[in-house]
Amino acid sequence: MAGVTLLGDAARPRAPNGKGANPAMPDGAGLGRALATHPGDTEAALASHEQVTFSRAAEVEADDDGFYTTMIDDHAPYSLLALMTGAEPDA
Ligand SMILES: Cc1cc2nc3c(=O)[nH]c(=O)nc-3n(C[C@H](O)[C@H](O)[C@H](O)COP(=O)(O)OP(=O)(O)OC[C@H]3O[C@@H](n4cnc5c(N)ncnc54)[C@H](O)[C@@H]3O)c2cc1C
Repeated sequence: MAGVTLLGDAARPRAPNGKGANPAMPDGAGLGRALATHPGDTEAALASHEQVTFSRAAEVEADDDGFYTTMIDDHAPYSLLALMTGAEPDA
């Protein structure tokens, strides 16, 4: 769709693992920078912004360290509790 882009969770919904708001902030700054770099050409600005933000989303996704598995594995929710507190997973 022309003239529309997504930021934050709308662009990449995240588990609560510290990788939601943190990457959303540079996304917002990057969008502002792209608009300033392409005055009068919103489409070019959005295309440039999306190239950076989509690649960051792929990096964040690849760097999940099994977090989603931890949330839904056979020990859930104790495995997630253990991750957050250092408790034994089978508590
Ligand atoms: C328990 C938990 C812990 C987290 N901890 C971290 C953390 O430590 N570090 C981190 O980086 N991230 C963390 N996150 C993720 C982070 O909260 C989100 O990535 C971030 O809030 C996303 O911001 P956003 O502006 O994209 O979306 P949101 O904060 O969800 O904002 C969207 C807004 O749009 C509004 N809205 C929805 N529909 C409509 C509509 N139709 N019309 C008008 N308004 C609408 C909503 O009411 C809301 O205010 C955590 C999330 C959870 C649930």
